[in-house]
Amino acid sequence: MKITDAKFVASCSSVADKPKLSLPEFAFIGRSNVGKSSLINFLTGCKGLAHTSAKPGKTLSINHFIINDSWYLVDLPGYGYARVSKEMREKLEKMIDGYVLTSSDMMLLFVLLDSRHDLLKNDLDFLIKLGNEGVPFSIVFTKCDKLGRDSLAAQVEKNKQALLEYWEELPPVFLTSTVDATGREEILDYIDEILKNHKTNNN
Ligand code: GDP
Repeated sequence: MKITDAKFVASCSSVADKPKLSLPEFAFIGRSNVGKSSLINFLTGCKGLAHTSAKPGKTLSINHFIINDSWYLVDLPGYGYARVSKEMREKLEKMIDGYVLTSSDMMLLFVLLDSRHDLLKNDLDFLIKLGNEGVPFSIVFTKCDKLGRDSLAAQVEKNKQALLEYWEELPPVFLTSTVDATGREEILDYIDEILKNHKTNNN
């Protein structure tokens, strides 16, 4: 898929106040600082679309971007912040769960994981919740340039094995680096395939 147009539409805090125009949604989520904003900018080819920063913890609302006038890229708040109050964390968790578990337009949720690290408990808890609730998701390993080829393969395999303790098979897994500009085509083609199937099934 070629992205010819990407525009910010609106911020919301729940399904009730998301944009009125209903379109298929592809959402992105991950722990704060995982590289989500960088990935969104890389995928869309728009540098300033999502706001990146070296400081963790800035996306506190749900942001909709309309892509090619035909689908929404949904930027969800990061989960598992260490540096916000318990009250704020709970509020965010409620916002995230409320959205991902109830938005009927959600085609797929891309869950971002830092390729350098073992899965953390809050990543696993979140993925298990998605599995239990039947939310379709896919895994994106970020910052793959930070490890050498062999260490990357070993770390990805380790994390896949950790997930296979809970699932018999895994959804598609993508390896990305916004520095090396890798993984973009694979993700966009996958979105395209889902959109085409969705269209066929709805006609
Ligand atoms: P967010 O909090 O998940 O939105 O993360 P950001 O996109 O703001 O990125 C957090 C930090 O990681 C920033 O300093 C980015 O420059 C850096 N970063 C993001 N993606 C990559 C990547 O693919 N490779 C490397 N080396 N650094 C990255």
